[in-house]
Amino acid sequence: MNTVIILRMKIVLLITLCLYALLCHAEGLPDLGDISQDAISPQQERQIGEQSMLQIRADKSYLDDAEIADYLNILGATLVSNSSEPGQAFEFFAINNNAINAFALPGGYIGVNTGLILTTQNESELASVLSHEISHVTQHHLARMVSGQKVDSLASLAIIAAAILTARSNPDAAMAGIIGVQAGGIQRQLNFTRVHEQEADRIGLSNLQKSGFDARAMPVFFERMQNATRLLEGNTPPYLRTHPLTSERIADMANRVQQMPFHPVLSSLTYNLVRAKLQYMQKSPTEAIKYFNAALGSQKHGNQLAQRYGLVLSLLRNNQIPRAVQEFSPLKKFVTNNPMIAALSGQLLRANIQTQKNPEQGAIEFYRSATQNFPQHRTLVYDYAEVLLKYKRFQEAATLLNQQVIAHPDDPHLYELQARNYAALGKPQEEHHALAYNYILHGNLRGAIEQLELAKHSGYDFHELSTIEIELKQFREIAAAQEKNKH
Ligand SMILES: [Zn+2]
Repeated sequence: MNTVIILRMKIVLLITLCLYALLCHAEGLPDLGDISQDAISPQQERQIGEQSMLQIRADKSYLDDAEIADYLNILGATLVSNSSEPGQAFEFFAINNNAINAFALPGGYIGVNTGLILTTQNESELASVLSHEISHVTQHHLARMVSGQKVDSLASLAIIAAAILTARSNPDAAMAGIIGVQAGGIQRQLNFTRVHEQEADRIGLSNLQKSGFDARAMPVFFERMQNATRLLEGNTPPYLRTHPLTSERIADMANRVQQMPFHPVLSSLTYNLVRAKLQYMQKSPTEAIKYFNAALGSQKHGNQLAQRYGLVLSLLRNNQIPRAVQEFSPLKKFVTNNPMIAALSGQLLRANIQTQKNPEQGAIEFYRSATQNFPQHRTLVYDYAEVLLKYKRFQEAATLLNQQVIAHPDDPHLYELQARNYAALGKPQEEHHALAYNYILHGNLRGAIEQLELAKHSGYDFHELSTIEIELKQFREIAAAQEKNKH
């Protein structure tokens, strides 16, 4: 049995535990429920998903960009709210990979490759893939497939999680090294059946339309994927290997769409900005400038605002500040109605302090108003915290970060900012405690224990100390169990 997997799973449970202990003053371990039943409960589905996510987040292909993740989550939430399970928690994330792929894990975790986002030609096409994946989750297809497996321990859950992760995110099973023979056997049973696909198509299509997108986008996009397969000659995109696509399926979608009212929909500005940002990320600074200059110059294809956004990002990265400021000016009027343009405007403001009389006041006022306009946009929050730290406004930073940690308790970046702020405030106990959360959310148990030990010996706050003691005891128990399993 892979001890790393057991350990990671326990860490996930712990993350939940320790965050609740800190924020909700909950006592004791969460109830894991009875795992010796036949069907997998929603709670177990969530555990399998969390288990897989810990591996995904630690992988270098995980795209750690709050703006892109926030966009996918907002788009996904619209679709989920019209699904049969509007109350189900979902998490959408991007994988930095050019292969056309998207995958659903049990418990509502949905990954989309950057290659798929860039292959879509409008937002309804992207929404159609998300809608199809959401339907696999709300119909509990994966849970139904594994429910025949004997799930008699947490360890079995871990094996299933590894198998699902391998089957979904990498149908070639290049990650086979992380799973055993047992998991390989389960994995072969994890391909969606035709019935599952048809169900996900029909329900997904109906949700797509209910959510206000252009339903025609679904057959169009799936057909484009199928055509791409022919061109690739045997190089089937991973998506089509885990969701076998047939002409029958496309015809069925097209038939249903014909019975729906004609409903053209414009893509949102943010959809176009996200695509521009992905293109920018994939190129070197000089390549990116050339690319967006050419796109803007041709004035033919694509969204001009998004191309300009990509150009300004590229100029900023290439340290061509005056030109970046100049190119940004047509985007200024969107600062108050688009969070990504607001974030870029703030970054430009911070890069261009030479021309400002009072850069501190300017930056603080900008971020105060931008975070009020877009309270859910995490990049603006991170940047605001950086500005407060830079100008030594530590009390304001503490207030901001405390609020944010309550809203996003599993965001490791917030704990890192909080630790830096506590260090500046001369609060070593809180600093090490926050760092422990940052480490554990990155799956680093040893580092978290070290930080908790440092925290324990560097302060006297009673509540803080008792939480630290409890966490330290549990983290050490897990470390000991891991040590024992090695032998
Ligand atoms: Zn499917």
